[in-house]
Amino acid sequence: MAVLFVVGTGPGTPAQLTFEARSAIESAEVVVGYGPYLEQMAPLLEGKELVSTGMTHEVERCREALRLAAAGRTVALLSGGDAGIYGMAGLVLELAEELVEPPEIEVIAGVSAVQAAAARLGAPLMHDFAVISLSDLLTPWSTIERRLVAAASADFVVALYNPRSRGRQEQIVQAQRILLAARLATTPVGIVRNAGRPGEERLVTTLAEMLDAEIDMSTLVIIGNSATFVDRDGRMVTPRGYGRGNGGGVQGSSDLPRQVTACGSGALMVGGTGSDVGKSVLTAGLCRILARRGVSVAPFKSQNMALNSAVTPEGGEIGRAQALQAEACRIPPHVDMNPVLLKPTGERRSQVIVQGKVVGTMDVASYNAYKPEAFCRVRESFDRLRSRFDMLLIEGAGSIAEINLKAHDIANLKVAEMAGCPVLLVADIDRGGVFAQIVGTLELLEPQERARIAGVIINKFRGDPSLLAPGIDFVQGRTGVPVLGVVPWFDGFRLPAEDSVALTQLAKGNRGKAEGAVVVGVIQLPRISNFTDFDPLLDEEDVILRYIQQPEELAGVDLLIIPGSKATLSDREFLRTSGLDQVLIDFPGVIAGICGGYQLLGGRICDPLCMESELTETTGLGLLDVATVMGEEKTTHQVTARLLTAGAVLAPGSSQEISGYEIHLGETTLGPTVTPFARLQTRSGGDVEHEDGAVSPDGRVFGTYLHGIFHNDSFRTALLNRLRRTKGLPERPTTHRPVDPLDQLADHLERHLDMERIFELCGVKTYHPPAPS
Ligand code: SAH
Repeated sequence: MAVLFVVGTGPGTPAQLTFEARSAIESAEVVVGYGPYLEQMAPLLEGKELVSTGMTHEVERCREALRLAAAGRTVALLSGGDAGIYGMAGLVLELAEELVEPPEIEVIAGVSAVQAAAARLGAPLMHDFAVISLSDLLTPWSTIERRLVAAASADFVVALYNPRSRGRQEQIVQAQRILLAARLATTPVGIVRNAGRPGEERLVTTLAEMLDAEIDMSTLVIIGNSATFVDRDGRMVTPRGYGRGNGGGVQGSSDLPRQVTACGSGALMVGGTGSDVGKSVLTAGLCRILARRGVSVAPFKSQNMALNSAVTPEGGEIGRAQALQAEACRIPPHVDMNPVLLKPTGERRSQVIVQGKVVGTMDVASYNAYKPEAFCRVRESFDRLRSRFDMLLIEGAGSIAEINLKAHDIANLKVAEMAGCPVLLVADIDRGGVFAQIVGTLELLEPQERARIAGVIINKFRGDPSLLAPGIDFVQGRTGVPVLGVVPWFDGFRLPAEDSVALTQLAKGNRGKAEGAVVVGVIQLPRISNFTDFDPLLDEEDVILRYIQQPEELAGVDLLIIPGSKATLSDREFLRTSGLDQVLIDFPGVIAGICGGYQLLGGRICDPLCMESELTETTGLGLLDVATVMGEEKTTHQVTARLLTAGAVLAPGSSQEISGYEIHLGETTLGPTVTPFARLQTRSGGDVEHEDGAVSPDGRVFGTYLHGIFHNDSFRTALLNRLRRTKGLPERPTTHRPVDPLDQLADHLERHLDMERIFELCGVKTYHPPAPS
């Protein structure tokens, strides 16, 4: 009886025919097919009638086959690979529908290109896979794109047919971009050309690099899922899950790619659209959120550019923000948490501190030359931390899209890559242009970098969240990156700010304070450091804090503070040129100098080794009879001390016990007319006998090396009460700093972030909200 066999001929030569296909061809009187297929099958076709048309004449070819079969002939219509996969079978059946008396039609399976290619590559299709043709001749590109997005986000292995032709170059580029937005750049990709045919080529590469390979219409591309790996023989394997009791990559029940679920990297980076968008604070809050659920978590910031540093228990120097984050994790700070700290000392120079110790002062060129070494130390510190903690919260630096600095990046996405972790992008709505910040930042990233961005956090919001919704929808639609929360501005606590950009923000703490309050003026030295020293003053209800840059601003100040400086000698020059110099000398009220400020209050300041700047010697304000020489070794210690008599006169009624921390190069010697301020009892935990600071004979001017002096509640209250009495204001009882602003911060974030998603990103099993308080 006449029949039309629609025969899948496999990927190429007759060797790949199934027996069934072979016998169908053998039984046919007439063989219809595309010229090259007929040639491939030539050994089987001797003595048969052959009907061949060109490639784009599929309809014609099928009609002819149907006509011949309907006329009583036994016909084999050849279709490459499997006839039912982008082949002739469907078309034949469609056309047969139009016929009044169609012939009998039998579809015979063949080995499809995806199977042939997979076998050549290893075992990439061992788990759920999606097959997508990139040919938009018959399918609108928007449909193809939608399918790519869906397959990408659902972690299917993706096999691409018709990946590229001479006239269709862009589609594969788009496909790569879509996949990269959901998968790691290192995802294995297999590329097979002419599978099972003469000229076969095979390559296993990565998602990021796949376009470097030759890809054409005889090529099949297979993109792995999140579990696919390359074995030691270079074969691509997607585990079925037998060995590990899970289903082929996606861990847990989520249907999202590994990268945006429990990433298992044990790390999460908080990057920003710019500096001062709130990365440090958000990182600290997330640290506390995890810590209070018992997660073993530590902060990490590879490179910090900040003047504001802290001292670790071993006496190393790190960025203040990481010390705060360590506190949020309820662990002691460690130099590994911030292996590189850059403290700008001059216009284009920075003191470079590596793993807590100064390695030198460098300009940009010398630091760039030093960077490979710095990155080794970064890696070393990171690895060490990672071995000690289950989870690392990594803070980025500045904007993650500083494309001009990318080549030398050791602080942002390079670190995320090292950690293999996802990234949260923090944008600051308070400074405006938040949607442009987000879209622009993502736009500037390379596809593989962008693939790491697992979510956006909009920070510092004030106003009605509903107004934001359309913008958020737009951003999500445009970038495909979810917004994981809008964090409202929170006035309820103040955390040490990280760098001087935040000075102006700190001054906002004055808002709403009464006239007639105690006014504290802090000289805003160009190289001011450790200005968090003054936060507790700002927290006092009747204290107004003012940063002073010009002589006029000194009017009405009750307590004048000269803060720490990273470059004491050049800041001395600033005092001269700004004209502050003389008004400081004439100032009648109480004057305090902290660290560099203490040195500035004295007489000679020598820096024979040019540790801080090119200047070797200068004369201070002469308000305290002390002299300072900068040494080579930096003193960095957490200390405890007892106030000496002069110190107690300065702040009558203060407890004698105080604590703080030292970070200084200089050693200061006292002249005969001043008396020491305090006696140190411990430095970095070890007992010492060492006097600190100096107080003028009338108790009006004093200096100390102790940062954090105003964090001593009793000392601060006693000093302020002395000022209040002078002003005729009522004294106040000792105010204690808010119990733990980090818990308030954590509560605040938990209210406004998609914590379930963030916990997934952290690889922490289930998120339970805190009990309502
Ligand atoms: N019915 C065929 C597919 C036809 S679509 C099948 O089941 O395999 C044509 C596409 O298939 C080509 O663009 C290419 O992507 C792929 N393809 C077919 N044969 C191939 C081979 N031998 N090697 C690699 N890719 C092949």
